[in-house]
Amino acid sequence: MNEHTIRNVVIVGGGTAGWMAAAALSRFLNNGVTRVTLVESEEIGTVGVGEATIPPLLTFNKMLGINENDFVRETGGTYKLGIEFAGWHNGQDRYFHPFGFFGQDLQGIHFHQLYLRERQRRVLPDISAWAMSAVAASRGKFARPADGAQSAVKDLLYAYHFDAALYAAFLRRYAEANGVARVEGKITDVRLRPEDGHVTEVVLENGQRIGGELFIDCSGFRGLLIEEALETGYENWQHWLPCDRAVAVPSRLVGDPDPFTRATARGAGWQWRIPLQQRMGNGLVYCSDFMSAEEAERELLANLEGEPLAQPRHLSFVTGRRKLGWNRNVVALGLSSGFVEPLESTSIHLVQSGIAKLIALFPDQRFDPIERDEYNRQMKDLYEDVRDFVILHYKATRRNDTPFWDRCRTMDVPENLQRKIDLFRGKGRLFRDGLELFATTSWVAVCLGQGIIPSEYEPAVDALDEDRVAHAMEQMRQGYLAVADQLPTHAEFLRRTGSLA
Ligand code: FAD
Repeated sequence: MNEHTIRNVVIVGGGTAGWMAAAALSRFLNNGVTRVTLVESEEIGTVGVGEATIPPLLTFNKMLGINENDFVRETGGTYKLGIEFAGWHNGQDRYFHPFGFFGQDLQGIHFHQLYLRERQRRVLPDISAWAMSAVAASRGKFARPADGAQSAVKDLLYAYHFDAALYAAFLRRYAEANGVARVEGKITDVRLRPEDGHVTEVVLENGQRIGGELFIDCSGFRGLLIEEALETGYENWQHWLPCDRAVAVPSRLVGDPDPFTRATARGAGWQWRIPLQQRMGNGLVYCSDFMSAEEAERELLANLEGEPLAQPRHLSFVTGRRKLGWNRNVVALGLSSGFVEPLESTSIHLVQSGIAKLIALFPDQRFDPIERDEYNRQMKDLYEDVRDFVILHYKATRRNDTPFWDRCRTMDVPENLQRKIDLFRGKGRLFRDGLELFATTSWVAVCLGQGIIPSEYEPAVDALDEDRVAHAMEQMRQGYLAVADQLPTHAEFLRRTGSLA
């Protein structure tokens, strides 16, 4: 702490991004010097979607010291073991992208390589038969790794589904209890310092001024500070990810909630199905070049399992990334920093990752450009990893039944992604670069699930005896089945742990 320490941090926006940032900063800037103020406008409201997550969120909760059972109960949440993709390959198919791992590597050889050789010798079940999470999910079972007596339960990686509004409210209680000040009101003006263009204060409709040294822009798609005030610029990725609209509606839950998300390909996009405790979250993500808002709404409503519980909500977005996530003294988090459609439930993770990097590179009032540049470099890489992995789902389709899928199948993709596809198609090779978010399991699941089947396998596999490998694989598979049989159902687990709302 010295004369350069930042004393006032202002967070603009109280959606998921704003309250995640407020909760984390209230935990890490508890130095008695730095004040955190969050401004939000109930009249403007939040985007109100964002209900499926990926496993790193567990780290965020642990960092905040949140009790998981309380968290799941208070957010109407459920557990998520992965995503079931329906109709992405040829319209009739299904595959599962599990959290966790496929099988066990043998003598340093990746399991999927063993699988590739074995499937040349005999007909094998889908590779998801070797993922603990997928086996449990297909039976509607769930347990936390620590609760399981059997060792394979440790492979059960998971994340959550939750109600976005309840999640923001949960984090708000946490942040306010830790001293974050909330100001209600609509920001109508943003003041900049003439010398260096830094934001000095935001002005509310009622004339109130809120000043600070560091501003976190969580104002949603509009990017009130990062774009409207600082004109940072936006990199548009719609030529690779053409969906630009969504329509969302909650529906009545039929039966017990599944411990997984489903993403079903439709004629000009795809539909999500996210089971929560009290309702099902549904939405259709689509491309407006091929489908009107009325058609999308009709298609969504025609494909609900239970009756709709509200009026459908229409949203539009431009896929892409703000050119700088951190510009001058403004750091954009959440939708103001960019958006990749929710196919792999990555947006909340991008918020979490932005917060973690900001804390790791937290500036003082001198704003050393090296910290800002490092933040921007890391976030750019992360955004591009997510983008490429999501593009893979579209590019790898064999569907030719609609102009939308024709466009996706035949488009050029980023060079880095094409290189990965080509490497995998040859001998099933995959390499995880640096801090890449998606691990080998994820790439294997989507590539094999969508028909990118390597013609060969790595030569090193032939050093292992075929019959022994076959025997080990069968033991693994039986082991996962035996463990899954002993697990409680997902609904039973929620009840037992006092996690029901
Ligand atoms: P918002 O929720 O839009 O919040 C903006 C805030 O800024 C609000 O509080 C608003 O009041 C405030 N504000 C704006 N202007 C002003 C002003 N002038 N004065 C005062 N306050 C102001 N993410 C996932 O991880 N998983 C998913 O399954 C998922 N599904 C999604 C589906 C769709 C269709 C979309 C569009 C997004 C989805 N996301 C998902 C993304 C996720 O919803 C967002 O990343 C997350 O909600 C963060 O939003 P936000 O807080 O950045 O913005």
